[in-house]
Amino acid sequence: MSEGTPAQQVDVAVLGAGMVGVSAGLAARQRGLSVVIVDRREPGSETSYGNAGIISSGSILPLNTPSLLKNLPKYLTNAHPALRWNIAWALANAGWVMRFLAAATPSQTRPRAAALHGLIGTSLKLHRDWIVQAGAGHRIRETGWLKAWRSDGLAAAQAEQAALAEFGIRSEVLDRQAISALEPNIIPAYSTGLLHAQTASVDSPGAVVKAYAQMLAAGGGTIRQSGIRRIEPHGDGWRVQLADGEIAARHVVVALGPWSAELLRPLGYRVPLAFERGYHQHFVPNPARKLLRPIHDADGGFLMTPMEQGVRVTSGVELTARDAPSNFSQLEAVVPMARSVVEFGDAVGERWRGARPTLPDSLPMIGAAPRHRGLWLAFGNQHIGFTTGPGTGAAIAAMIAGDAPPFEAQAFSPNRYIA
Ligand SMILES: Cc1cc2nc3c(=O)[nH]c(=O)nc-3n(C[C@H](O)[C@H](O)[C@H](O)COP(=O)(O)OP(=O)(O)OC[C@H]3O[C@@H](n4cnc5c(N)ncnc54)[C@H](O)[C@@H]3O)c2cc1C
Repeated sequence: MSEGTPAQQVDVAVLGAGMVGVSAGLAARQRGLSVVIVDRREPGSETSYGNAGIISSGSILPLNTPSLLKNLPKYLTNAHPALRWNIAWALANAGWVMRFLAAATPSQTRPRAAALHGLIGTSLKLHRDWIVQAGAGHRIRETGWLKAWRSDGLAAAQAEQAALAEFGIRSEVLDRQAISALEPNIIPAYSTGLLHAQTASVDSPGAVVKAYAQMLAAGGGTIRQSGIRRIEPHGDGWRVQLADGEIAARHVVVALGPWSAELLRPLGYRVPLAFERGYHQHFVPNPARKLLRPIHDADGGFLMTPMEQGVRVTSGVELTARDAPSNFSQLEAVVPMARSVVEFGDAVGERWRGARPTLPDSLPMIGAAPRHRGLWLAFGNQHIGFTTGPGTGAAIAAMIAGDAPPFEAQAFSPNRYIA
């Protein structure tokens, strides 16, 4: 920045305009703070664009649970479409892999589910309010989310139903006929289904983030498009160095999703963030065979969601470096499986790749950086960051204001990984 050009001055600079950052900015602005959100792209253009658009009441069980340990033999061959892993990456990140697996035991799973339940509950309420206030109410569908098994799914569906019921989350186990009654236009490929009845979905996650960002701007917040280079303590607050200038802020919120860890490294924080990469592709829908809700194919570990752009098929998990070249084989493996359920036409547009940002215990970091006043961490929302962005943002805004977060947030403390 040239000598003498004044830095933009705000109470809160939020770094990253995905669902998490936009939500943090909105919640801080609603508390009367001056806010700027910075992103090198338009709001909702990265991970928060390409997801399956599910606002899930029931995603309290992350990937690393006892069922992952049970299924490990089938994933070790690296041929299953639900989970692929790069061997060189796994060896180089053996510590992360061991910690991820260590968190999958029954005794470690229940407390994490309880923590996520609180975060999700707050998030669902905020989404349902904000989406209407932001003029995007037409994008939300209250049709639930169907998880479905081709064969032998009953025990798994009942076990999941019981786990959800412990937290008061309603779901329905369905047989083949009940699935056909619910989704009359799909081919009856599934013998068992579990309907997450209180779950919603949207037809364009990126558009929803943009609508929330516009609501922030209409309420006096600022969205600034620029590359973020570094942050450094400055006086009582922070200086954010951008590609085209700088910002002086009392508080900085790091909400850079899968890019969060690298910004923190110069401050001495080594965050164990890994990347559960995923892909999507759109297909021309058949208007006579309309899909009514997202379907999760449990055998293939993929999802089909009706979106504005067509039927979006999203792949399972690929554990590898964030920026490793794309490997579309997982997506290619599930597209024929999707076609055996939903009659859709040709592919539309480019295939997309994103990275779910994941810490070893699959809980996000929500809270203060241990050694720096005014530095707040809000990332690591793994498979459910579109759902949990609003709760994450509301908790950070409350903490900035010196208030208690709207749910029990101790389990999300950054102190569990960094000191
Ligand atoms: C295939 C797939 C399906 C998914 N399905 C679902 C789902 O159905 N429901 C659900 O709840 N979640 C889902 N998720 C997870 C969800 O998408 C993520 O958890 C969430 O989007 C993370 O949001 P975020 O705001 O943390 O990150 P992002 O949306 O990635 O935002 C981070 C922002 O930081 C910006 N940025 C990074 N570095 C810089 C820099 N140096 N300068 C400026 N800007 C920078 C980026 O441009 C980006 O906009 C899915 C994820 C994938 C991959």
